Amino acid sequence: MDIEDLAKRVKAGERRALSRAITLVESGRADHREQAVALLEALKDGAGGAMRIGLSGTPGVGKSTFIEAFGMFLVNRGLRVAVLAVDPSSARSGGSILGDKTRMEQLSRHPDAFIRPSPSQSHLGGVARRTREAAAICEAAGFDVVLIETVGVGQSETMVAEMSDLFLLLLAPAGGDELQGVKRGIMEIADIILVNKADGDLKATATRTCADYSGALKLLRKRPQDPEGYPKAMTVSAVTQDGLEDAWEAMVALSDWRKETGHWEARRAAQARHWFNDHLRAGLLARLEEDPAIRDLVRRRGEEVEAGTISPTAAADEVLDALRGA
Ligand code: GDP
Repeated sequence: MDIEDLAKRVKAGERRALSRAITLVESGRADHREQAVALLEALKDGAGGAMRIGLSGTPGVGKSTFIEAFGMFLVNRGLRVAVLAVDPSSARSGGSILGDKTRMEQLSRHPDAFIRPSPSQSHLGGVARRTREAAAICEAAGFDVVLIETVGVGQSETMVAEMSDLFLLLLAPAGGDELQGVKRGIMEIADIILVNKADGDLKATATRTCADYSGALKLLRKRPQDPEGYPKAMTVSAVTQDGLEDAWEAMVALSDWRKETGHWEARRAAQARHWFNDHLRAGLLARLEEDPAIRDLVRRRGEEVEAGTISPTAAADEVLDALRGA
């Protein structure tokens, strides 16, 4: 495969080249991996042009309805939109429930939109690494907005936040008790909380829920990367599209402020460092698996640790020594 040529066609915005490039980074084959690394290197100058928006919410909150509506809102303003997903369940089942094109019918047919389901990998970490690479490819391909969707489960939100410039949390209208249910950690990484379904019978509840979250957000320590008034809570309706414009304006205002103050670039730099460390760690762990002698040693020492015949510390040291010699 001619990687230079593929990179050129990705940069020119060719859809088929884009799909092929993402398939390449998702591949588990060693020779593909080498080509993927060369491709990402060839595309690295294209970084920084997109707004990467992370979006999280529990199943049923309206993520796909929102992405369909918000994506259409953006393409109708002349922006090009890519939708990616980090689906923790794909690590177990091999299939993804997120980023499925059938859930975003209009958007998936639009020439300025590109939708890709979550890669399926054996570990969530692998899913996240491949999605981060796919986001970099979409950015090099000239997309203005890269939306990265995930469900509110375990580590996936933190991972998506690490590959996003802005992080949105989608919530459903609910009674005051629900407020307690949102993990503190997620409140801290959210830039904008969107209370969805603010329409019809649910509108009043949504407005109340939004006020509750606004209050809760005000109690958080002010973060250096935020201007006055952020993080903020707003109401939207993915069905009637009320509030989408306000939400987009809030995203642009935050993004502009961060760019002017240097926080945007600093976040990108810190993220690059994060993924460097992440790849290093994953690579070292993979080396434990690759060498049959080391793999065997890990298995045996693991059993001995369980049996109590060797301490966890000494067993790990022994494996690391063996790895050094390998
Ligand atoms: P996801 O699991 O988070 O992707 O949620 P879906 O987008 O599949 O939506 C779950 C359900 O909520 C569906 O029945 C939607 O029609 C409904 N829904 C989504 N957004 C809205 C909204 O803004 N208002 C109302 N009333 N219902 C919505």
